[in-house]
Amino acid sequence: MFLVTRLASADDKPAISLDPQRAFGYLEDICKLGPRPSASVGMTKQQELLDTHFTKLGGQVSLQEFDTPHPQKGTPVRMKNVIVSWHPQAKERVLLCCHYDTRPFPDRDKSNPQGIFLGANDGASGVALYMEMAHMIPTLKTTYGVDMVFFDGEEFIFQRDGGKYFLGSEYFSEQYRDRPPQYRYLCGVLVDMIGDKKLTIRRESNSLKYAPKVNRSLFDTAKRLGITEFVPLPMKQEINDDHISLNVIARIPTVDLIDFDYPAWHTTKDTPSQCSGASLVKVGRVLLEWLQHVPEDVGR
Ligand SMILES: [Zn+2]
Repeated sequence: MFLVTRLASADDKPAISLDPQRAFGYLEDICKLGPRPSASVGMTKQQELLDTHFTKLGGQVSLQEFDTPHPQKGTPVRMKNVIVSWHPQAKERVLLCCHYDTRPFPDRDKSNPQGIFLGANDGASGVALYMEMAHMIPTLKTTYGVDMVFFDGEEFIFQRDGGKYFLGSEYFSEQYRDRPPQYRYLCGVLVDMIGDKKLTIRRESNSLKYAPKVNRSLFDTAKRLGITEFVPLPMKQEINDDHISLNVIARIPTVDLIDFDYPAWHTTKDTPSQCSGASLVKVGRVLLEWLQHVPEDVGR
């Protein structure tokens, strides 16, 4: 008789199993809370939902709060970024982020620009994705700690054009720069509008400019997994999003994964019926696989 010693190999990693139905259920749960602009009733309910969900799965939940003047009234509005830390003792960390507020009005809706904006894709999709990924993160074989950060005030905007966007990510980035924590972020990934039933994620030019290695490693991972919704061709538009502050102010090389080809954008039609759990899970598989192979020099 002889013994076969199995060496630890890539096959020993826990299988990544994300559940598209459960992911879609999270997206529906969030939308059932109603519109979720900064400091609204829906937003408060969402904060409670996230706290309960992530705490139950072993994440460490904290809030980063600040006040900002209301763009119309000038009165202070309390903003809350939600931070969920996994393996909080790790000094080298990867940032996964999205915005979780919704635009106050669907101002691109031709027939009802003051109607109800649910933000299923533009708001709930990233949150639902991270809620689903949270089932896998505690057992994931990664060298790095992971922080999921949900930015408030991405679009606390009451006019169709202009206005100050990205309040939460800007504050987060300034704090990171001005009060450096005991840990550092190696790199980051921002997701936005990744729930579209017809998902296509292309290379975004600001991500290529500020975080080329992160970008390449994400698209290489998608290719290896055969996830063809990631198309390594340039997007038509340059995207201004929460990743700009992270790259420029915090100097965390951060990629924006976004599908901007979405006819329901900023309309009353941005509802769960436009989204799919399959799309969410495809992005989730890329991110989880990528987290286990983040190249050490990715941030340099
Ligand atoms: Zn938006």
